[in-house]
Amino acid sequence: SAKEQGKARYEVFDNSLRDRALLRLEIETDLRRALERKEFEVYYQPITSLKLGILSGFEALVRWNHPTKGRIQPGDFIPICEETGLIVPLSNWLLKEACQTTRSWQLKYPEHPAIRMSINLSAHQFRESQLIQEVESVLQETGLSGKCLKLEITESTLIDNLDTVTEIILHLREKEIQFSIDDFGTGYSSLSYLHRFPVDTIKIDRSFVSQMQAEENSAIVKAIVTLAHMLNMDVIAEGIETTAQLAQLRLLQCEYGQGFFFSKPLNKAQAEALIASSPKWETVK
Ligand code: C2E
Ligand code: MG
Ligand code: MG
Ligand code: MG
Repeated sequence: SAKEQGKARYEVFDNSLRDRALLRLEIETDLRRALERKEFEVYYQPITSLKLGILSGFEALVRWNHPTKGRIQPGDFIPICEETGLIVPLSNWLLKEACQTTRSWQLKYPEHPAIRMSINLSAHQFRESQLIQEVESVLQETGLSGKCLKLEITESTLIDNLDTVTEIILHLREKEIQFSIDDFGTGYSSLSYLHRFPVDTIKIDRSFVSQMQAEENSAIVKAIVTLAHMLNMDVIAEGIETTAQLAQLRLLQCEYGQGFFFSKPLNKAQAEALIASSPKWETVK
């Protein structure tokens, strides 16, 4: 009937808006309990030395095992964590968990002492948390050496608070902790800013790597790698999926690669199995 049709139409419109608002509210409420309920899990994606063809470390990536909705990817809850400030306790938990895991692997596999862990930081952590104290106490508690820890920050985090962030980075670098710029090329900074960033590594965003067969994109990648090397920085290419991309990046002398070509993010047991089966490891520079 017309009434049913009208109702159906109304519901279609209403549902999309209302459902989205409800879902968001539900996720926010659930997130507040997720930490104490131990619903978060750290996954580890291998980072490979392109020159030597061996594993050099991992990036820690959070996953949320929701009790009814199943596995939720970070893109669907990290932004909410950032808006609500929940990102700080979540990040502190992840930092400790990933450092503890790294240290336990180093002790269990002493023939691979150089396992290095990369961890994502959000802008919030530079504003409201005691980032320096937090990092230093985690290193002390876990016994992990600072040179085995690498912290990833985005261009926008850097640009928006250049002075504060620079100060914090310089402080943590005294502990030999390294820094990378994540998703490089997607932010608003220009290449002319790069020399001002006190970082060791640039991670070229997947969007450039995945389009490298287009000439203008491979020119951009080449420009980034060249400039990074002139500034004494290493380069990690994100999102390598094909042999062709790998070959191009090796030609450009990009130091490291990460992507499904090598491995998807692994759970803790799978990552450990990879270490156990790895023949040899690069030594920490
Ligand atoms: P990111 O730091 O740039 O991490 C790389 C993302 O690219 C990961 O997605 C990874 O699974 C994905 N990826 C890696 N290789 C490939 C590939 O070859 N192909 C494709 N299609 N994708 C690939 P993930 O795990 O979904 O994380 C998304 C983003 O969420 C991360 O981007 C990071 O910005 C954020 N994130 C993840 N974990 C954390 C965390 O613990 N703290 C914070 N603050 N952010 C996190
Ligand atoms: Mg990252
Ligand atoms: Mg990235
Ligand atoms: Mg990226």
